[in-house]
Amino acid sequence: MYVSKVRTKRTALSVGILALQGAISDHIYHLKRLEIEPVFVKTPEDLSQLDGLILPGGESSTMLNLIQRFALKSSLRSFLENTPSYGVCAGCILQARSVWPRQFSFNVLDISVVRNALGRQIHSKKVFIKDMDESVCFIRAPVIESVGATVTIVAKHDNSPVWVENGKHMATTFHSELTIESHKKCYARFKEIVVQNRRIKQ
Ligand code: GLN
Repeated sequence: MYVSKVRTKRTALSVGILALQGAISDHIYHLKRLEIEPVFVKTPEDLSQLDGLILPGGESSTMLNLIQRFALKSSLRSFLENTPSYGVCAGCILQARSVWPRQFSFNVLDISVVRNALGRQIHSKKVFIKDMDESVCFIRAPVIESVGATVTIVAKHDNSPVWVENGKHMATTFHSELTIESHKKCYARFKEIVVQNRRIKQ
């Protein structure tokens, strides 16, 4: 098939960053550091040829409006069925099975989340996460209230998961791109997931 022919020719990994709104640019540096080509995603065409997608932090309701306006919803949905994603904060809200207060989500991670559960911008702070042995940034973060049986909890804080994986999808409720150690751990893990998914497909 056309897609697989192109895939076997390509060697470099390329990962998209949904570039509609939010904290987009720091991801470029982190991907390049791992020799992954970053690609800004704004249109359905931008999704072709990608090995993975980062759904960045920002404002999930605004992103959803823009996803609608840019006619991205159905292509994103089918992309996420087959391709790894890493959701950061608002991105995690977009990946969830269910969101409170209720809003649309892509249902690729079997988790339920409550938006803004850690308070307003002014309450945003760095929190020490024992499971990661470092402090990470929570910015109007959601809380993951429940996880399904197929979800792996990589790190927890105060009994709530803050880093989860479900098959080829991964999410952190903190902004891993903003702290020195967490970005190394989270991006390295996402790269492993992306490489593994590409091997399976080839
Ligand atoms: N509170 C935001 C939302 O609901 C998420 C905040 C963030 O991504 N830092 O979308």
